[in-house]
Amino acid sequence: MTHSHDTQQTTSPPTPKRGGALRGALSWFDNEAPWKNEDERGGRVHWTRVAPFVFLHGGCLTVLWTGGSGIAAAVAAFLLVTRIFFLTGFYHRYFSHKSFETSRAAQFVFALLSNTAVQRGPLWWAATHRHHHAASDTADDPHSPTQFGLFWSHIGWLFDPANHRTRWNLIPDLMRFPELRLLNRFDTAVVGLLFGALFALGAVLEAYAPGLGTTGWQMVTWGFFISTVLLFHTTNMINSAAHVFGRKRFPSRDTSRNSAILAVMTLGEGWHNNHHFYPAAVRQGFYWWQVDITFYILKLLQGMGIIWNLNKVPAHVLELGRQNLGRQLQVMPRKAERNPFVA
Ligand SMILES: [Zn+2]
Ligand SMILES: [Zn+2]
Repeated sequence: MTHSHDTQQTTSPPTPKRGGALRGALSWFDNEAPWKNEDERGGRVHWTRVAPFVFLHGGCLTVLWTGGSGIAAAVAAFLLVTRIFFLTGFYHRYFSHKSFETSRAAQFVFALLSNTAVQRGPLWWAATHRHHHAASDTADDPHSPTQFGLFWSHIGWLFDPANHRTRWNLIPDLMRFPELRLLNRFDTAVVGLLFGALFALGAVLEAYAPGLGTTGWQMVTWGFFISTVLLFHTTNMINSAAHVFGRKRFPSRDTSRNSAILAVMTLGEGWHNNHHFYPAAVRQGFYWWQVDITFYILKLLQGMGIIWNLNKVPAHVLELGRQNLGRQLQVMPRKAERNPFVA
């Protein structure tokens, strides 16, 4: 049996086989468990990695058994909105782009809270996202709709072995914190805690406030499964839809667009063309009429002294945007570039 790799030399170790189901399952709980063929690219789906995703979606069907209640729906909505904020405010604008500063303690607390979004650990999220900016809409982009199609950019890319590992070389600034590395390695533990806390909440309400009509499992169905699936599809539209639908105001060399509808749904992330053109800014809605709820909440946190040094949008960028008001710029093809975060 030859197992050849064009570039492989005879002196190098043999090409490892694909990770088995057991190794794949282990990597659900330990992100640094040995994993094979991680560096291979090319739109290959690893089915073991799909299982948790199917579990998450399939879990929504338990609503047929648990039913619903006002309180369970309210908890689901609350967790949806707050977790969108944690993802956009912290995984994205803080960990990925360092668009403001905070203390080490607050950094950890917000990493922990963002981790409840079930989108893996803070270091994996930030590294993957920096890679997206460095290689937007090239063949190296983890989730470009123009390269691999809309479905790939929304879901498929998550199951590519090449996107599983944390790209350590892109996050030297975050690697210095052992507490973040630990969280990144065992991110599923936080997800398990959320699951357990929701069950406990439902069970306590069932015992002490039976009039609310909820149970432990019903709270899990709504607060965990339904809320998390909605959260996944809402935030992943920035990877897919925000590179396809909307207006291009700034001449960024990618397919990013601005969409008011997406901006409202994602608490401000829909101004994606603004963001690709000037990613260092804390706000993504650059003008007063570009609604950016995440930015307003971050201003509040600044007022409370929890975060500081919020990066502004430079005047020349604002002026360029004003000149292009109402225009639809052409999408420019581009090549992959070096990531600015890599020394
Ligand atoms: Zn993008
Ligand atoms: Zn970004």
